[in-house]
Amino acid sequence: MQRFIFILIAAGFLAFLALGGLNMGQEAPPHPILDTAAAEKVEQPLAPAAEVSPSEISYSQFETYVENGDVIGMVITTRENGPAIVTARLKNGAIVRATMAGDSVMTDELRDSVGATEVPYDVNYQAESGSSFMSFLLPMIIIFALFMFLPGIIRRMRGGGGMGGMGGAAGTNGAPGKVVETPKVRLADVGGVKHIKPQLDDMIEKVLDTGTKGRLGGEVPKGFLFLGPPGTGKTLLARAIAGEVNARRTDGKQVGFLTASGSDFIEMYVGVGAKRVRELFAKARKHAPCIVFIDEIDALGKRDGGAAHGGGGNDERVQTLNALLTELDGFEGDSGVIVIAATNREDMIDDALKRPGRFDRKVSVPLPDMSGREEILNIHAKNLQKRALTARVRQQRAAVAQAEEGTTVAPQGVMAKRIAGRGARKGKVQLPEIFAKDVDFKSIARETPACSGADLAEILKRAAEIAENRQADVIEMADIRNAFQSLRLGDEMPREQEFVDEFTTAVHEILGHAVVAGQSRKTLGRDHADDVQSLTIVPRGMSLGAVWTSPTKDRVSHSQKYLLGRLRIAMAGQIAEKLYLGPDAVTSGASSDIQAATNIAAGMVSQYAMSNSEELTFRNYMEQGGFGVTKANAEKVDEEIDKLLREQYIRAEAIMLSFAAAKDADGNDLMEMLTRAMLVKKTLQGEEFMRLISGEVVFDRAELDLGAREAEFVTLWKAQLNHRKNRVAILKKDHAEIANDYSL
Ligand code: ADP
Ligand code: ZN
Repeated sequence: MQRFIFILIAAGFLAFLALGGLNMGQEAPPHPILDTAAAEKVEQPLAPAAEVSPSEISYSQFETYVENGDVIGMVITTRENGPAIVTARLKNGAIVRATMAGDSVMTDELRDSVGATEVPYDVNYQAESGSSFMSFLLPMIIIFALFMFLPGIIRRMRGGGGMGGMGGAAGTNGAPGKVVETPKVRLADVGGVKHIKPQLDDMIEKVLDTGTKGRLGGEVPKGFLFLGPPGTGKTLLARAIAGEVNARRTDGKQVGFLTASGSDFIEMYVGVGAKRVRELFAKARKHAPCIVFIDEIDALGKRDGGAAHGGGGNDERVQTLNALLTELDGFEGDSGVIVIAATNREDMIDDALKRPGRFDRKVSVPLPDMSGREEILNIHAKNLQKRALTARVRQQRAAVAQAEEGTTVAPQGVMAKRIAGRGARKGKVQLPEIFAKDVDFKSIARETPACSGADLAEILKRAAEIAENRQADVIEMADIRNAFQSLRLGDEMPREQEFVDEFTTAVHEILGHAVVAGQSRKTLGRDHADDVQSLTIVPRGMSLGAVWTSPTKDRVSHSQKYLLGRLRIAMAGQIAEKLYLGPDAVTSGASSDIQAATNIAAGMVSQYAMSNSEELTFRNYMEQGGFGVTKANAEKVDEEIDKLLREQYIRAEAIMLSFAAAKDADGNDLMEMLTRAMLVKKTLQGEEFMRLISGEVVFDRAELDLGAREAEFVTLWKAQLNHRKNRVAILKKDHAEIANDYSL
């Protein structure tokens, strides 16, 4: 009997090799694993058959193995009738087998732990046909092969893979749509999408198949195009639609979710992409109701060869695209399959894809606005709390186990998650307070313009890390701000600096950027100027210091006043260096400021028609960046940009000089007190700063003493008085009109 089984296994293995060796041009059965394993088959000796005898374990036991990092690889086999089976290899060499819970291939929890522990896995779709004995053996054979080749496979997965071996399966990306998921995530887990609620409801209804469509002859849409920048939650939304339907369905049949990326289809060899498209759709139809999500559809580019990125030749792209079109046309709206494609580059997509009956519904998923950001922050704050609860339950259990048995046990992660999750759902367990009382997500939302949902999730995660690192009990506002700033500029990295360099940075930031920004806020009001949020001379990433501003409200469009203000603020850093440190002391530190100012000015002139030149007609602006820009026009535009920058440069300087003789309430030189405050405190809050420039005495004079650096400071300060005097003399001569405005 033993021998008989061995022969069967060997036969099966040979069959497997034959399948794997199929040419990619032909229709191979959908065994994604074969593609990977086949390439390395030659060098590997056969392992003893004794290796292949899995012992049955429960699903929760299996989850625990995964969570604890005991699993080094696994193969999931889905079956037509009955739940999927997973066969896994453990660290200690044992092979175990478990029957998956429910209908799904992978629960969300399992996918999370598989992702976290980087367990390599593959999915095998088992056809119904064939003898029952063979179909029982097949997964074992595949796992047997997989584990022999495992080191190679892991190498590929980690390193992103090189080319497939010659003669083996082509490609680097792996087959798309490997796993049929059944997402649990709900629409409530996606923030900032109120504006597309009706469209989402429509999609849900469509997948739910409530039969309310078509009453007036309308067609049931099947293809949707999600348009928006990376990280705005397009993938999350697609999964949430499936999750929402799954939560609402009463018949127990779950909606599957298949994901693929446009780049998965682009291969070196003609025909591979097209084959993968067909396989993907075949799988979708088989698992209907099902949502197919294709990310980065723009990687498929245009049929005229307009695509600039991605590998593969143009022939391959055209074939793949045509296969996709054929598939889209080939199924009816009521087949229970809907396709969602996502991109940030609508212009890169072939028009044929957008025709009626294909991806004809556009859903825009832009960066969230202020209230959207607040919603997203609240969602992820909850997520953080849930994770914290899980970790705490796990730590408790580990501690208890340790106390009871006197030994260290691996924390029972999955169980902890279950207990925590169930407890939280039933309202029995309170989510832990992990945020300080004063944490205000409305403020954070205001301070994080242009952040995507992914950015915000990352900010909160980092804030938690920062707070943990400083052994705090709760996450403070400062931790969240710190996290935001490191996302933008990099981590704080205090370094040893000479005093004169620190002095230069302080002058640049506070007497330059901050003074002009603060003054703009006062004179232009909240409609046309941002708040000063905070200022610092602690180096972060590549920057030596920074002034952070935050919008007073969502700016849907920018007024000319606002943009002129931004120009002045951007240039102010370097102006301050010249004014206070002398023309020879200017540093290269302002390069990104100058870049920013130039970009704003160029936009104002050539995009928004905001220059006051009589000579530039509207046609001139329209032509910028397009055809027919004559040399004369281009020169005019350049001239206008220069003029704008020069004017605002002078105005910014005038604002600084208007503070020349300013004193604070105690009669001290206001600019000197600002510089001292910056040098002593290193970081100032915007609100403190605004009080300071209004002349309020915020810090005790004694507090602003520089100690060992006092003498050096006094020398530098005296020198700056001379530079300032010289500069004012020049200005009075050259720019009397503007100087008068500010009563210099
Ligand atoms: P996209 O597909 O648009 O690039 P993803 O859906 O992959 O973006 O977003 C990545 C992660 O960022 C999500 O898993 C989620 O944690 C977070 N995220 C992004 N957008 C949102 C949102 N609108 N609401 C909640 N979380 C979001
Ligand atoms: Zn600067």
